Amino acid sequence: GAGIRLENLTKHYPGSPAPAVDDVTMEINAGELVVLVGPSGCGKSTTLKMINRLIEPTSGRIRIGDRDVTGMDPVKLRRTVGYAIQSSGLFPHMTVAQNIALVPRMVGWSTSKIKNRVEEMLDLVGLDPGEFHGRYPRQLSGGQQQRVGVARALAADPPVLLMDEPFGAVDPITRDHLQDELIRLQHELHKTIVFVTHDFDEAIKLGDRIAVLRERSHIAQFDTPEAILTN
Ligand code: ADP
Ligand code: ADP
Repeated sequence: GAGIRLENLTKHYPGSPAPAVDDVTMEINAGELVVLVGPSGCGKSTTLKMINRLIEPTSGRIRIGDRDVTGMDPVKLRRTVGYAIQSSGLFPHMTVAQNIALVPRMVGWSTSKIKNRVEEMLDLVGLDPGEFHGRYPRQLSGGQQQRVGVARALAADPPVLLMDEPFGAVDPITRDHLQDELIRLQHELHKTIVFVTHDFDEAIKLGDRIAVLRERSHIAQFDTPEAILTN
């Protein structure tokens, strides 16, 4: 597994009065599920996007395992980091199977390996492969789309998974179910997960540790759910 280290990480968007993320230092252990919880606008998405190199930090460093991500080539990064987002981010013109196959294809897996992997991933997230692989995203419910989003993020078996409010767009009952599934998955897979939410209950339910963030991603508390609930 690979841990993640954020060292004095800062993002100041050009033209904004204050940094979105200001001097954040944090260590996430290999195999740990850490939840970043805080109000809308406190810099959670910005932090995840920097880890995924979708945006460049203004200053500071990010290490995954013993590697500085700044120096990592994009294919290596895709192998290392899976990314699941609120809207599920599925491409509407691609089938479920094509969406899940995206990163494995990008990193050069063989067609037969990809085909098996797509089935395996659909099973993993509780969707019948025969029924779902040929469907388009519009032919799925919101909860099914989120499942496919998680399947896609896991497809290339990355040691690190970044999840940005991945269950934010579904009804409370489906969300509860997807949360249970994530807990079950994590017991099997032991990924290093950074999970972002503004929902404190979700943080308490899912986190091995929880970072409670204030504005500019200033860390108010970083501890286990038990410790946070008793403080
Ligand atoms: P969160 O994920 O916690 O809701 P974000 O990381 O999305 O917070 O945003 C943090 C701050 O950065 C907010 O004030 C937001 O308006 C600002 N911000 C986000 N993206 C951009 C951008 N591309 N350009 C300028 N400001 C941005
Ligand atoms: P495009 O530039 O056409 O959006 P990308 O190659 O950047 O294509 O990514 C395709 C999709 O793969 C993205 O929409 C994203 O949701 C998903 N994806 C899976 N893993 C990652 C990752 N580590 N970083 C960014 N996107 C990822």
